[in-house]
Amino acid sequence: MGEDGRREVEEAWYYISTSTAELREITKMERIGPHSHIQGLGLDDRLEPRSNSQGMVGQGKARKAAGMVLKMVQEGKIAGRAILFAGPPSTGKTAIALGMAQTLGQDVPFTIIAASEVFSLSMSKTEALTQALRRSIGVRIKEETEVIEGEVVEIQIDRSLTGATKTGKLTIKTTDMETVYDLGTKMIDSLSKEKVLAGDVIAIDKTSGKVTKLGRSFARSRDYDAMGADTRFVQCPEGEVQKRKEVVHTVSLHEIDVINSRTQGFLALFAGDTGEIKPELRNQIDTKVAEWREEGKAEIIPGVLFIDEVHMLDIECFSFLNRALEKELAPLVIMATNRGMSRVRGTKYTSPHGLPEDLLDRILIVSTKEYSPSELEQIVLIRAQEEDAQLGEDTLQTLASVARESNLRYALNLISTANMISKRRKSEKIEVADVKRAYEYFLDLTRSQEWLKGQAGKMIFEEGQQQSDDRM
Ligand code: ATP
Repeated sequence: MGEDGRREVEEAWYYISTSTAELREITKMERIGPHSHIQGLGLDDRLEPRSNSQGMVGQGKARKAAGMVLKMVQEGKIAGRAILFAGPPSTGKTAIALGMAQTLGQDVPFTIIAASEVFSLSMSKTEALTQALRRSIGVRIKEETEVIEGEVVEIQIDRSLTGATKTGKLTIKTTDMETVYDLGTKMIDSLSKEKVLAGDVIAIDKTSGKVTKLGRSFARSRDYDAMGADTRFVQCPEGEVQKRKEVVHTVSLHEIDVINSRTQGFLALFAGDTGEIKPELRNQIDTKVAEWREEGKAEIIPGVLFIDEVHMLDIECFSFLNRALEKELAPLVIMATNRGMSRVRGTKYTSPHGLPEDLLDRILIVSTKEYSPSELEQIVLIRAQEEDAQLGEDTLQTLASVARESNLRYALNLISTANMISKRRKSEKIEVADVKRAYEYFLDLTRSQEWLKGQAGKMIFEEGQQQSDDRM
């Protein structure tokens, strides 16, 4: 990596340390929704599943298997492996994956994508997969920061009026010195009371007299020209370096890629639109990270990439994943599918779960099964509590029987709609009649299919008019 590249990587740490906290917040926000009641895998210390714990009910074997996998991730033993959760719809595959995410600490990256997100016009499929894989590998960086004595304890802006002339003085007092700057004859605004530290740069607008704190990073960026010729800069005096403190940041390889990409810049991380990243840059970053590891400055944390609806990937993606899993820097890849024997996209071959056999050969498969009536009832109750919905007598049984006869997800959706209906009639509880009304307003899959039969010929794109979009 050239001098420029090295400086960029180093400067990137400043942005990383200030930006990752916000990125985590965004991830958290995405998880509020149908799975917000899931707080973990609900396992005990020996990884045995508790029957109803941390929002999780039943599916004991799959939860235990997930717990064992997590243990291996935490011990750093499972990089480059892949797991497939396979089972009928609404049997908790996504819920278990999210339970795993909750159990892994903040420091271990966990990325969730739906396979269809890989198909986009803005980047190739393999680039999208590469980004997802690199998002799931953490780099824990140890940095030494300096603690400086001589913190600025007071800033005074002194304004005085002599005849028609206003003059000003800026006094910066630190613990061991006092510096006075003459601000000339313009009107001086007061500096906000925020703390100013040694080394901070203060900008004084010569025309308006406005005083702004720019911070230490500004001194590093040396971007004085951008502020215009009318600005005067004062750097608060540096004190003696007293001691060094170790600070640890964890960032993903993808964040390092984006921050160092000339075309993107770190703001792209917030926009989410990072575009394609050049392979040469990634090689440089990998070399740099390898150097840091050797010097003991950084540690790799293989995280988890969860690919939901994995049967939506095509043969090119599968072969790319197969290869990617063999690389040294690979996360644990967890996939989920509700497909049985189906065609592998991009081929004319049929295979279990729509995944090619060479990939199936190397992965661990965990199956999820349908819930018992009592488990369905418990899940419905947990969701009702999560949504602050009070259930009237018999309502729980009604919703549980909808879950049994239709599907669990539909029954859980009825809780919110029936809750709205009950609130409109000013009732504190959802009664069976509210569920019935919601059931009439919103069709489930079976009734929707029946309704379609009755509409034969009236809808557009009906069978016979349409070619499958998935023939390639
Ligand atoms: P699909 O194959 O259709 O994607 P899935 O197997 O991923 O389905 P989920 O989305 O995990 O199913 O489950 C449907 C709903 O039921 C979600 O709201 C989920 O949180 C909840 N749920 C499923 N299993 C459990 C469980 N064992 N404990 C608590 N809630 C669960």
